[in-house]
Amino acid sequence: MLIKPEWFVALRCPYCQERMLYRAVSRFELDKGKTLAIHCSCGAEPFHLRLKGQHLYADCFCPCCEEEHNYIFRLQGIQAAPPIMFGCETMDIRLACIGEREVVREAMDEESALILDYAEELRDYFVKPTIIGRALICINKLITAGSCLCADCGREDMDVLILSDRLALTCPHCGNSAYIYASRSSDVYLLNRISRISLHEEGMRIKYLSIKKEDFTCHW
Ligand SMILES: [Zn+2]
Ligand SMILES: [Zn+2]
Ligand SMILES: [Zn+2]
Repeated sequence: MLIKPEWFVALRCPYCQERMLYRAVSRFELDKGKTLAIHCSCGAEPFHLRLKGQHLYADCFCPCCEEEHNYIFRLQGIQAAPPIMFGCETMDIRLACIGEREVVREAMDEESALILDYAEELRDYFVKPTIIGRALICINKLITAGSCLCADCGREDMDVLILSDRLALTCPHCGNSAYIYASRSSDVYLLNRISRISLHEEGMRIKYLSIKKEDFTCHW
């Protein structure tokens, strides 16, 4: 069976609970026997992944049980959609998922859509919950498509911090960071027109779908 070399891991950091963490995982890195540790920009290290023979070992901190949950999967299971979900059996919640880009995107869209479902209840936390929810879905699409990366590290890994009126994108490797405002309908309109975002030390560079020739550097 042909094993695809790359997966995507996505989770909400169980420590700060404010950041969505996205990591492109190379099968070849794991083949070298390395344990992949996922760090959050908040300083926590909530997730570990290790390959041994035909099995994938993972552990993820659970914020409800306040302990690590451990998982073992057969490698072949990761090829097929839907993605593998790492959950908490006690609380029936999803902690993380791993799989191909497309299925991880769908899983994270569901997570973002929860903000839309609970928009009324979330008015104390967000200036416009529905705008934040839609902005998250846009960013989720860009990240899982590999269209959001750090220019300095050249990697597609990204932390997305959810604030009351904006999202902060941060490269977990070098700390390059930029804000994406999400409090007006026009913010979502513009986000939908983005084809590529690259983080630089001085800000971010955005390429829009309708403008083919030129990049714009934007310090939002
Ligand atoms: Zn965190
Ligand atoms: Zn748990
Ligand atoms: Zn970087």
